[in-house]
Amino acid sequence: MTHNPTLVARDLAVLWHPCTQMKDHETIPLMPIKKAQGVWLEDFDGNRYLDAISSWWVNLFGHANPYINAAIKDQLDQLEQVIFAGFSHEPAITLAEQLVTLAPAGLERCFFADNGSAAVEVALKMSFHYWLNCQQPQKTRFITLENSYHGETLGALAVGNVALYKQTYAPLLMDVITVPGPDCYHREAGESWADYSTRRFALMEQTLAEQAGNVCAVIIEPLVQCAGGMRMYDPVYLTLLRQACDKYQVHLIADEIAVGFGRSGTLFACEQAAIRPDFMCLSKGLTGGYLPLAAVLTTAAVYQAFYADYNAGRGFLHSHSYTGNALACRAGVATLALFERYGTLNNNKLLAHTLAKVTERFHDHPHIAEVRQTGMILALELVKNKHSRQPYPWQERRGIKIYQYALGKGVLLRPLGNVVYFMPPYVISASELQYMADVAWDAIQYAIKE
Ligand SMILES: *Cc1c(COP(=O)(O)O)cnc(C)c1O
Repeated sequence: MTHNPTLVARDLAVLWHPCTQMKDHETIPLMPIKKAQGVWLEDFDGNRYLDAISSWWVNLFGHANPYINAAIKDQLDQLEQVIFAGFSHEPAITLAEQLVTLAPAGLERCFFADNGSAAVEVALKMSFHYWLNCQQPQKTRFITLENSYHGETLGALAVGNVALYKQTYAPLLMDVITVPGPDCYHREAGESWADYSTRRFALMEQTLAEQAGNVCAVIIEPLVQCAGGMRMYDPVYLTLLRQACDKYQVHLIADEIAVGFGRSGTLFACEQAAIRPDFMCLSKGLTGGYLPLAAVLTTAAVYQAFYADYNAGRGFLHSHSYTGNALACRAGVATLALFERYGTLNNNKLLAHTLAKVTERFHDHPHIAEVRQTGMILALELVKNKHSRQPYPWQERRGIKIYQYALGKGVLLRPLGNVVYFMPPYVISASELQYMADVAWDAIQYAIKE
């Protein structure tokens, strides 16, 4: 199943792909894509693949969305990019205005960056620098959760906790305080998500009580630890964390890079706990999956701590060349408009319900320990033994078998280890959801054989 062998050969001669052991492509075909429309990717032989993972969680309203296409084309003829220090433009201003309006009240400032990891770096630096500007230079550390993921650059990697990505680079990374997490996969039988998340919060509270004096911020992924295997927890954890961060005078950084923009069921996951973080990191869906862009939203209090005469040396002198790229910002404005136009948050309630329905039979599958869902994310925990929850050894790479089988049937699934998940664009239909689930079922049957 090698499509367009010429392109594949040219690619493998010069390219090095992300998150890939390149030798795998001796046996697993690389997949050149010619075009895409809606939820469908198309290869050079006309085969179509349902993009069940929204092209790495970025796409919201389908590929080649006519409305976003038109906005970008219009922008292209006016201004593609301009230095964002000392200069500005309307797409960035409009997008920032809309983001601070839509975000939890109190997030009033928007700093742009150009990818998720960069946004995390910005939030970490801003938090540290805020405390420094407030005469608290002893605050230098960050608290993070077990199994968290915040990106791949060294600062973002340091505050993450997924060993697969982090371990190799440990000697390069700053030391962080890692607290056991609220991941409800580990709750006792009969225990509710809320009870487990509340119980686990005691460990965070204890850490804060002991260490807050040296801590800048706690960084978390609200409600779903996505790269950590779509592990989920109850909003009560966020409510308790907000209270504790206030009590112990520590910032709360909400990394909504994956869960923001309707993925969790609300526009932002923090809304489900009615909290306002001190920093909110956004990227991925921000441009509807079109162009790289990220934003860090923060409070007036943080902004004011940097606002002073130049010679006071309090400014945030951080930049990226493509900060506030005009095409990307315009795509962001168009994306936010589509939430209104399509009634997305309401429609997604129905869609999430349909997603639950088409995956109902997985609950009784003998090798699926848990089917869990938060809004438009649904995950299946594949195990060797349903009762002991003993996982399949990672070396067996059952996820890759699922990936290959599903691709052969026209569905792009990309399991995280033994976790099969669905995170489709919001323009998917009920019958496409059904097809996606049916192919996933067959793929799992194929992958668990022998
Ligand atoms: C993807 C992701 C990031 C990193 O974003 P990149 O644009 O890939 O650098 C950070 N945090 C979370 C929660 C993510 O899912």
